[in-house]
Amino acid sequence: MNLVLVVNAGSSSLKYQLLNMDDESVIAKGNCDRIGIDGKLSYKVPSRGYAVDEDCVFPTHTEAFEKLVEVLTTGEGKVIDSMSEISAVGHRIVQGAEIFDKACLVTEEIIEQIDGLSELAPVHNHPHALALRACTKVLPKGTPQVVVFDTAFHQTMPPKAYLFGLPYEDYEKLHVRKYGFHGTSHRFVSKTLAEAMGRDVKDLKIVSCHLGNGSSITAVDGGKSVDTSMGFTPLDGIIMGTRCGAVDPSAVTYVMEKHGFTPHEMSQYMNKKSGFLGLSGVSSDNRDIQEAVLKGDEKAAITSDILQYQIKKYIGAYAAAMNGLDAVLFTGGIGENSWEVREAVCENMEYFGIKIDSALNHAARGKLVKLSTPDSKVEVWVVPTNEELLIARDTLEVIGK
Ligand code: ADP
Repeated sequence: MNLVLVVNAGSSSLKYQLLNMDDESVIAKGNCDRIGIDGKLSYKVPSRGYAVDEDCVFPTHTEAFEKLVEVLTTGEGKVIDSMSEISAVGHRIVQGAEIFDKACLVTEEIIEQIDGLSELAPVHNHPHALALRACTKVLPKGTPQVVVFDTAFHQTMPPKAYLFGLPYEDYEKLHVRKYGFHGTSHRFVSKTLAEAMGRDVKDLKIVSCHLGNGSSITAVDGGKSVDTSMGFTPLDGIIMGTRCGAVDPSAVTYVMEKHGFTPHEMSQYMNKKSGFLGLSGVSSDNRDIQEAVLKGDEKAAITSDILQYQIKKYIGAYAAAMNGLDAVLFTGGIGENSWEVREAVCENMEYFGIKIDSALNHAARGKLVKLSTPDSKVEVWVVPTNEELLIARDTLEVIGK
């Protein structure tokens, strides 16, 4: 078996999947959560219906990896005899900045470079570096590790798309620019869509809408990202579960002054207290918002309207940016499951040649399916994302298997 372990490490969590790349099936998956707090392990072997949830002690990422090795190789949930059966480990890394435009093999120097980008992604990159070091300690010597970056796919954006209207020297000195995120997802779904359409991705202009707790929309022209809605951080773009999306920068300084917020407090306000949650006062979860809309909640209705309106505007803007549009795709928890959001986004878009079949849209949930009518000029699809699978595929490619 060609086994790849995919790791998505945060400051207090370590999500993992062990994939058999012979048939791209998931052998085991779970999370080592609450690292540095107390510790909770969840572990599943889907083929056997085996699942455990237990309290553990994870003072650091090293203990979390040690536990992961233990559950994979021993006890009732054992799926392998030893970690040496694993061909490679693929790590999801949020910020690769301008240094990394593709996946690469991990060395101590690469870990240092990832850690060195922590200022640009304080919540993510330092924990990634900690996890990479912990994983190296726990793995058998010589097991290759690969890093796959959320930002890498967007490194093809031209300067007119990624530069802000700030003094140029701060782009040069402080590296302030749009990086874009969810790149692995946008790359995966746009390629999957091209295959489903029976077309070469190089010949397609696609607007890829990844709508989840975090959401981003990307213009994919000829298989390359040419613009995207998230920016310097994953806060920019459309409203999200708890993130505000784009706001006038002056509103930020004004609110800071009025509330007497420190930069950290302002960041918490925009990242954790805004978006669906802050606008509706109901929830950060789209399902709760849609339910509240049905019950006549006005703030939930306006929240839902803002989301749909902003997505529509990005589709229009990116069709203009690409001088054409062949397909719009929806992915992520909301994009794959919420017929309400998709319907409202695609309504009154005949000008763009977008027409969807209402029955198909109502039925579409979490599966690859075409929603557009045969006479729609632009194809509209639901394309489920699978970032772990793409990380595993990239990992094998980098190690040459
Ligand atoms: P993340 O960005 O954390 O990966 P997900 O992609 O899982 O998030 O998306 C979570 C969002 O998807 C939530 O707002 C949730 O309400 C929404 N969602 C999930 N399932 C459904 C559903 N069946 N109908 C409507 N929305 C859904």
